[in-house]
Amino acid sequence: KRAKSSKDKIIFYNILIDNELQEKSTKERDLREAFHNRELKIFLQPICKYDKTIVGAEALLRWVKKDGSVLPPIEFIQLLEENGMIVSVGEEILRQVCEVLSENNELKFIDINVSPVQLRDEKMAERFFNIVSSYEIDPSKIVIEITENILIDMNDIVKNNIDKLLKYGFELCIDDFGTGYSSLAYLTLLPLKKIKIDKSFVFRLPDDRKSIKLLEAIYNIAKAFQLEAIPEGVENEKQLEILSMIGYKLFQGFFFGKPVPTYEFLKRLTKE
Ligand code: C2E
Ligand code: MG
Ligand code: MG
Ligand code: MG
Repeated sequence: KRAKSSKDKIIFYNILIDNELQEKSTKERDLREAFHNRELKIFLQPICKYDKTIVGAEALLRWVKKDGSVLPPIEFIQLLEENGMIVSVGEEILRQVCEVLSENNELKFIDINVSPVQLRDEKMAERFFNIVSSYEIDPSKIVIEITENILIDMNDIVKNNIDKLLKYGFELCIDDFGTGYSSLAYLTLLPLKKIKIDKSFVFRLPDDRKSIKLLEAIYNIAKAFQLEAIPEGVENEKQLEILSMIGYKLFQGFFFGKPVPTYEFLKRLTKE
C-alpha cells in the first residue's frame, strides 16, 4: 500500500499539477472580472514629517472584494505580472492617483510602485504621460518607485521608458533601498529624487547597534547625492526618535498611519 510504483507517483504529481493549474486559471478569471468590476483599488499610506503632518502618500494596490474582504498585493501581483494584466492595472492605478491629486492640492506627491513588466512595455512612458495630461496633473507630483533589481537587466526598452518618464517630468525613486542589486553605481547614473529605505533596516531599532550604523551610512549616502531618504516601516515612537536623531526628515509606517481607502485618506487630510 505504502510503496508506490513510479507510474503511480507520476499520476499523483500530474493530479497535483492539474489542481495547481486549475486554481491559477480560476484566480486569473476572478482577477479579470475584479478589474472589470473596479475591485482593484489603491489604498493610500501617509508619508509624514516628524510632527505627523502629511506631505505625501504611497499608493498601494488592494483587491477589495464585493463581500468587503481586502486582499493585499502579495496574493495577486505576481499573477498580474505573469499574464501581463499589470500593464492595464498599472494605468488604472495611475488614473486613481490622478483623481486623488485633482481633489487635493496640498499633497506634494504620491508614490506609485511600478513593476518591471510595465517598464518592459514599449509605450509605457507615453501612456503614463497621456494619463496625467488628461487630468492636468503636474507629472512631478508622481513619483515612480522602482526596485534595484530592475537595474540588473536594464534593456533598451526599460532604459528608454525611464529616460522618457524623466523627460516628461515624473520623479524617480528607488524602493526597498539596500535589499536588491548590490551595486551603487546607479546612484551616479540615474537622476533620482529619493530612496525608500526598506523596513528590514528599521525593524531592529531602537536597540540594534548595527542597524543604527547602517541607517547612518545610508543617510549620508542620500545626503551626498542630495536625495530625500524615507525610512519605511516606522512602527513606534522609539524608532522614530532614533531615525530623527540620525537626521531623517520624512517617514512612512504604521506609527503614522496604515494604508487606507482614498476617501478615508482625503478625510484625514482635510481635518489637518
Ligand atoms: P512596498 O512598495 O515596499 O510597500 C511598502 C509595504 O510595507 C506595503 O505593503 C505597506 O503596507 C507595508 N508597510 C507600511 N508601513 C508598514 C509598517 O509600519 N510595518 C509593516 N510591517 N509594514 C508596513 P503592501 O501594501 O502589502 O505591499 C507590498 C508590496 O507589493 C509593495 O512593497 C510593492 O512592492 C508591491 N505593490 C503594492 N502596490 C503595488 C502596485 O500598485 N503596483 C505594483 N507593481 N506593486 C505594488
Ligand atoms: Mg513602494
Ligand atoms: Mg515596491
Ligand atoms: Mg518598500
